[in-house]
Amino acid sequence: MSERVYNFSAGPGVLPEAVLKKAAEQMMNYEGSGMSVMEMSHRSKVYQSIIDGAEKSLRELMNIPANYKVLFLQGGASLQFAMVPLNFMKNNKADYINTGEWSTKAIKEAQRYGDVKVVASSEAEVFNHLPVVNENDFRADADYVHMTSNNTIFGTSWKKYPNVKGKPLVVDMSSDILSKVIDVNDYAMIYAGAQKNIGPAGVTVVIIREDLVEYSRPETPTMLKYKTHVDGASMFNTPPTYGIYIAKLGFEYLQSIGGVPAIEKINNRKAAMLYEVLDNSKLFKCHVQNKEDRSIMNIPFRTASDDLDKKFLADAAKEGLVTLSGHKKTGGMRASIYNAMPIEGVEKLVAFIKKFDKEN
Ligand SMILES: *Cc1c(COP(=O)(O)O)cnc(C)c1O
Repeated sequence: MSERVYNFSAGPGVLPEAVLKKAAEQMMNYEGSGMSVMEMSHRSKVYQSIIDGAEKSLRELMNIPANYKVLFLQGGASLQFAMVPLNFMKNNKADYINTGEWSTKAIKEAQRYGDVKVVASSEAEVFNHLPVVNENDFRADADYVHMTSNNTIFGTSWKKYPNVKGKPLVVDMSSDILSKVIDVNDYAMIYAGAQKNIGPAGVTVVIIREDLVEYSRPETPTMLKYKTHVDGASMFNTPPTYGIYIAKLGFEYLQSIGGVPAIEKINNRKAAMLYEVLDNSKLFKCHVQNKEDRSIMNIPFRTASDDLDKKFLADAAKEGLVTLSGHKKTGGMRASIYNAMPIEGVEKLVAFIKKFDKEN
């Protein structure tokens, strides 16, 4: 490929071209410092301005209230699967909703520490819809409720959360953070690996309500306590400096195009275009049929034939539409259309789907 492609990867995923260009410009000499951000001490004044700037922009974008802390950690969203129970399980009880592969992994990890109740699950139907949650099934003495906002592999997402009756709601937003307007006050904690909708892999964003920071179980390693990272302002040890810098550029870029309300409109348009062409085709079928359960970020679909799916993927790649293969649990294809996927990429994919539909 001599030109850039349209990359529909589920993660690490596409980044805004403006961000990559800016990073390239600043690669050798960041703002007159004479060095690359990669080479800089995290204790330097110039780096402090980068991490402070990243936090400031994220706070503005998500309208994060003052009583929430913002952390830039390492270990991916997967480390949060352990940090959440280690820091929040006081009564040794937590309630989880199982909506996919990542929820399942979070549940498995929490089970190492205490009594986990799976309040609802759609596993029996390959997670092709969101389960009905009976709010009375939440336990009065559960320490928290854990959910996954957008199910990256199966393509469902919550539009409205169940009433958790004042219990701390902890949500994994790895694949849809910043894709739509939310009210941070509705959550006790939000976490997200950066490599889907924020920046490069290696950074995990945690947004945590102040009152939840103090406690951790006695066996919790220092590095896995939220308090360690709150007290150290994400600099207890060396943070993923370059990743945070790219995240900052991404946040600033999003602000420059109108912030989350503006990108939400574009995301809705992109998803509507794709669902429309797939729903109107006899050849293709979306994994998720309930319209109200559908994700605007990840859209798994397939034909009835593995051979045709393979042909679709090969032919699409020739057109510069790449990384469209589905997860092994769903087979077929998956289009991940994160914030940074331009509308032109989706238009080109829609045209390709129409053409493939006609010819096969
Ligand atoms: C990708 C993903 C993860 C795993 O993220 P890592 O950073 O690789 O640990 C967890 N949850 C969701 C919803 C994801 O999409």
